[in-house]
Amino acid sequence: MKYTFKCSNCQKTFEKIDSFKELMIPIPTKYHSHTSAIPLQELLKNYFSKEYIEDYKCECCQKKSKFEKTTTILKYPEVLILVFNIFNVVGQDFIQKLQKNIEVPLYDLNLKGFEGESFEKKKSYNLDSFISHYGESVDHGHYIR
Ligand SMILES: [Zn+2]
Repeated sequence: MKYTFKCSNCQKTFEKIDSFKELMIPIPTKYHSHTSAIPLQELLKNYFSKEYIEDYKCECCQKKSKFEKTTTILKYPEVLILVFNIFNVVGQDFIQKLQKNIEVPLYDLNLKGFEGESFEKKKSYNLDSFISHYGESVDHGHYIR
């Protein structure tokens, strides 16, 4: 995974390359009241969209500025593990479980559009297994495969 940070003041970019075991996919707030199934591609688009980090001190211009963070994949993993963050922190000590259906393709999932420049040829994934949490809350339930 490659993370690129760009300073809005001096335009200098910094890169960080990191390995990953799984992608922790958040469920954006706009989907919290969504009643129909959420397409996986929408969640991936959100995951790989640009983020902005405020008030971060730039090593180049030495000023606190806004940084644009871009996330891209450098190398496809052999097995792609996606973890959906269905637990939403509400207030200080309440965690809500989001009861959402996510539409995941059984075959040919690709990450086209989320890869970096020097990318290997396209690879697609078939769904092998799925683990789901059954239960009403964070404190109760089971994970079932
Ligand atoms: Zn700067």
